Amino acid sequence: MSNPYKTRKGGATVTVFVPYDCQNNCPFCINKREYADCTGFSLDAIIESIRTMDAITPCCDFVFTGGEPLANLEALQQMLDAIPTTHKVYINTTFPVQATTTLEEMLDFTRRNREKITCMNISRHLQKYVEESPDEVIAQIACPTRINCVLYKHYPAHRLPEYVERFLKYGIPVQFRYDYTETTPENLYEEENDRILQDLRSMFTYKGLDGCRMRNGFHFEYKGLHMTYHKTLPYSTIVETDENGVTYDILYDIVIKQNGDIHSDWTGVPLDVEAYRHVVFEPYDLHVINGTIDF
Ligand code: SF4
Repeated sequence: MSNPYKTRKGGATVTVFVPYDCQNNCPFCINKREYADCTGFSLDAIIESIRTMDAITPCCDFVFTGGEPLANLEALQQMLDAIPTTHKVYINTTFPVQATTTLEEMLDFTRRNREKITCMNISRHLQKYVEESPDEVIAQIACPTRINCVLYKHYPAHRLPEYVERFLKYGIPVQFRYDYTETTPENLYEEENDRILQDLRSMFTYKGLDGCRMRNGFHFEYKGLHMTYHKTLPYSTIVETDENGVTYDILYDIVIKQNGDIHSDWTGVPLDVEAYRHVVFEPYDLHVINGTIDF
């Protein structure tokens, strides 16, 4: 490690890559190649790493992603059970139609874990890449839910209002996402040449913007439904020198890989766990930049 670590109050978000795959091949997926060979994947090693991160930052957020977290409910339960209730827990899922697990079993899982899961983020894109469970099923999920929609390349913008109406019926908020492999420090806050932002502004009511060094959210409203347009950088470490001349690696996301290895970034950099035990905390720099985001 070249610099001491700094992170926000509470700790960097810990994203856990589940040790089992999804059955899909979304064109924008950059995780898929990591699941091509499952040699070395270990549920036990992941749980050990979850415990390590809980000990260092007992109030950080955890995110489960994949692969498909709901493809093995038993393993997911074991990982969830390793996380004390001091943490917020998010699950990124397609809530898929699966040969081995029924939709009712997945709904039951959400009922059993409604106190443990802060929010289930469900991918539903404008173009269908996976076999989706019906919207009526999503509406029955027992914990809070949000729809995630990547607006990828030449997406059919004219279908956006119809798409939003689909979830308005159930009052499920929608988060549109920029393809983050395309995000740069220069275009993160750039508005005029951002086609997605311009499309959303022309169809929905713009309400406000919040953001930090790493990511932001443009907030919109449509018939009372809260929508966000989210942009984030493709890496999660910012190197910055403070007023005393000390240069820090400022960590936003920590990753637990499928084999239990802990990384300090999405880009394959291992975390120096012992150094992270002495991490310096700063206030979270996420703040409202204009307008309102609570409505
Ligand atoms: S469902 Fe998720 S993990 Fe699977 S291919 Fe699509 S984006 Fe990738």
